Amino acid sequence: MFVKSESGDSMKKYDVAIVGGGIAGLTAAVYLAKAGLSVVVFEKGKELGGRAQTVNKNGALFNLGGHALYRGGAAEKILQELEINVSGKVPDTKGYAIWNNELLELPDSLGSMLKTKLLSWSGKIELGKLMLKLRKIDASSIKPMTLRTWAEKEIKDPMVRHVFYALCRTSTYCIDPDQQVASAVIKQVQLGMNGVLYIDGGWQTIVDKLRMKAETAGVDIHTNKTAASIDCKEMHHIHFTDGEKIEVPYVMVTAGPEQTCKLVKGAEQTLLQDWKQQAQPVYAACLDVALNKLPNPNHNFAIAVDQHILFSNHSRASKLSNDGSVVLQLIKYLGTEKESNAKLHKQELEEIMDLMQPGWREKVIAQQFLPQMTVVQDTITVEDKHYFGPSIPEVPGLYIAGDGSGHGEMLVDAAFASSKRAAQAIIQEFESEEWYQREA
Ligand SMILES: Cc1cc2nc3c(=O)[nH]c(=O)nc-3n(C[C@H](O)[C@H](O)[C@H](O)COP(=O)(O)OP(=O)(O)OC[C@H]3O[C@@H](n4cnc5c(N)ncnc54)[C@H](O)[C@@H]3O)c2cc1C
Repeated sequence: MFVKSESGDSMKKYDVAIVGGGIAGLTAAVYLAKAGLSVVVFEKGKELGGRAQTVNKNGALFNLGGHALYRGGAAEKILQELEINVSGKVPDTKGYAIWNNELLELPDSLGSMLKTKLLSWSGKIELGKLMLKLRKIDASSIKPMTLRTWAEKEIKDPMVRHVFYALCRTSTYCIDPDQQVASAVIKQVQLGMNGVLYIDGGWQTIVDKLRMKAETAGVDIHTNKTAASIDCKEMHHIHFTDGEKIEVPYVMVTAGPEQTCKLVKGAEQTLLQDWKQQAQPVYAACLDVALNKLPNPNHNFAIAVDQHILFSNHSRASKLSNDGSVVLQLIKYLGTEKESNAKLHKQELEEIMDLMQPGWREKVIAQQFLPQMTVVQDTITVEDKHYFGPSIPEVPGLYIAGDGSGHGEMLVDAAFASSKRAAQAIIQEFESEEWYQREA
């Protein structure tokens, strides 16, 4: 329960140490500290936030790739429960479908559905019916099957299927209809239909507010502090790269399946190994651009139906600069394939910029290209046999959280929900230990 430096000096005692200061680590810290446990968070980065950080480039605020909060999901519910308010707006989805390098009306409403040249008349009717069905269907009643099987059974028109797959990848960030589970994807599409929120100040706002809540509740936070290994015995020993170590009864790791397996000694003899083997991380290439003026102010949103690309003007629904510059975020969904061609991704993303905002290069204030971001540490596939966490049965006192340990939630909802589950499991365990000690 205390930290020791190499010189052997002992420092403060803690009940719980959390590895990782992203959304999951900070959320869990708030729940634990509010329940009266003493908590410390260790983050290897210079800043907190992990993949939810926002960077300021020349006055423009860029998330690490386009980020949107799904309304009605676990994230929104937990933020409300923790009394964290974030401001922002729901962007409208009036925009374009890109097909064969041509901009066609995106069929997102009855009016645009009637006008668009993307679909035949029978296709328009079929898409209309499909959208109604997606709104009404109880996703959990869909029998286990792949997304492709569901789509081929339900949708006749090939172009309507293309539009449906585009909607699915925009909602899940994943592009693998032969692996994805239909019910899980449709549930996420339904969440997306509630609208998403673009957040003023970017996702850093969420991170900063979680940090404030955690510190107010008494959590100690250390950045630039990298866990090198975790030795799980009766007490757990975390060794850091700077030579320090800490001994605690409870450890929560939010670093994802692969990193967690590297950190925990003897992980290969535990369920952590199965977790790592089952996990399918999802990747994306991101181009974020700030312009002092939009060459075409009417071009705010586009989904490339025959490519895996999304274009969105985030400034249309959130405040991301003080000087009126406009932040555009483009994403190329890469799926679960680790091999990647950064040059090709950048070229394709820039071609979409040329199509949507011709002449944009003369108006650039700042930009960032992120060739291969891990969007999520695991996605739900038909191969999945278990949900993992929050506890690891072979290692009492060790817990996992983060977007790789969702129990059916996707994206940041998995990070929030898993961290709450892990915190609650620790609180329960801690309270029963205390009770046991009192009685003994
Ligand atoms: C391009 C992109 C777009 C996205 N868009 C959306 C979206 O629109 N909607 C949505 O819901 N979600 C979206 N996400 C997903 C969302 O950002 C993540 O689910 C969420 O931020 C994950 O939080 P986490 O705490 O689980 O993981 P992380 O943010 O990865 O946090 C883990 C932390 O652990 C730290 N760490 C790792 N190893 C160690 C160690 N040894 N010692 C100390 N610290 C360590 C890391 O530095 C990191 O800060 C997107 C992600 C990306 C990349």
